[in-house]
Amino acid sequence: MKKWIFRLSVLSLVTFTFGAMAETCIPQSEMQEIARNFSQFEEYSHSDYCLDGSEISNLLDSLLFMRKTSFSNPMPPSADELFSGRFESDWYGYFTGRISKITIDRGCPKGVGAYVYGYFDQTMYVCTMMLTSDFTSLDRASVFMHEARHIDGFPHTTCHEGPREGIRGACDFQISDGGSYAVSVETYAQIAKYATEVHPALRAYSRAAAVTYSDEAFVHTPSIDRTKGLVVLDNSKQFFKVSKSGAGQMKVEALGFAPSLGRVVPRGQHLILFPTAADQPAGYIFPRGEGQISQQAGELARRFNQLSSEERAHVADSHIGAQWMAQINSKGLELFCERASDRSEVLPLPAGKVALGFLYLQGYDRGSHEVVISFADGSLAKAGCNPSFGPFVEEMNQSFSTPLKRAYKVDGTVWGIDQQGQIYEVQNNQLVPFQSKDLNFSVEIAPYEAFDFFDSL
Ligand SMILES: [Zn+2]
Repeated sequence: MKKWIFRLSVLSLVTFTFGAMAETCIPQSEMQEIARNFSQFEEYSHSDYCLDGSEISNLLDSLLFMRKTSFSNPMPPSADELFSGRFESDWYGYFTGRISKITIDRGCPKGVGAYVYGYFDQTMYVCTMMLTSDFTSLDRASVFMHEARHIDGFPHTTCHEGPREGIRGACDFQISDGGSYAVSVETYAQIAKYATEVHPALRAYSRAAAVTYSDEAFVHTPSIDRTKGLVVLDNSKQFFKVSKSGAGQMKVEALGFAPSLGRVVPRGQHLILFPTAADQPAGYIFPRGEGQISQQAGELARRFNQLSSEERAHVADSHIGAQWMAQINSKGLELFCERASDRSEVLPLPAGKVALGFLYLQGYDRGSHEVVISFADGSLAKAGCNPSFGPFVEEMNQSFSTPLKRAYKVDGTVWGIDQQGQIYEVQNNQLVPFQSKDLNFSVEIAPYEAFDFFDSL
């Protein structure tokens, strides 16, 4: 009989989280409950089990997370397609009804987190990558629920467009089918909205993960009621939300504080701060003051954090697409075009030019194959990973009278910021200064969306 293999494609999709392992022990009574469902853990059930960061420890902590996370009651569904609540009642019961053995696979290909063979085999295989401190128990719980759903059927399909275009088995057809990616979205959305004892930063992370999966893992993208906006980071490290408030008026609203100043790089719905201060690590940030989570925010953040302070100072900007990444650093433009490998290629930037950063004049799009580089003389170049001919840099005819270090198109308006911190609205290639008494010296802008389900009371 042909065996179908269902892999969870974590790829460039995020997850990496709450590393800081709690210094706690799982009580023996809990260990006995876990061993009742998974006899493989019987040997650990004769006393309390103290978490030590090992693979087994992370696995057990994730099972405990599924058993113990409490949610408010009731949990109304969203008015859009984000949250149906169909898996709300008992995560652990759902999981143990389908999976009875967990095997650690040490030979998974890059990007694979876990898989099952489906229907006739109740074993879930978990790749060692998932069991590192780069992932939280929240992420693992979501992945485990996703895998359990495969036991009910629900194979994946290949996305024919969008951020996951061409990746085999990286999409489901539509969220209303309730397949495994629907479960991924449901679990993250449920934690973000209804978990009662999960840290606000982790809930904010979960909210971004829910929407990123929803936006990227379906052939028919689910409709989510949202408002697209812009956040500004000022030199007091405070975030401000800038939005149109009808009649051409702009509204500026104070949000929370960033841990330090730097470049804010989107990764789907997540925002990652690459700090200017060389002693600060790159990591996820949450503009509403939700706090911080401690783990690595993906590959480029990990690489950044391994650099010396001198090397970090040369990292001008980073781009994180769904299937490729780019970084402007001391070597030139470093492009990571091969999704399933760590290999990069360095292309020289045009001679004598200093790159300021990436511009998203058409909007930030994780599925786009290219990005615009802005130079200190106001000129622009296109660069990226072309599906037919690979890595490229190509100078453009377009330029700006004032060089921008960052620009985003958000909801029809193109916003830019120059090196002096002046924000502009870009209209037909002209820069119209944006003034607000609420904004002091601004240092960075980033896209930031609000969602009716999460943000309405
Ligand atoms: Zn899957």
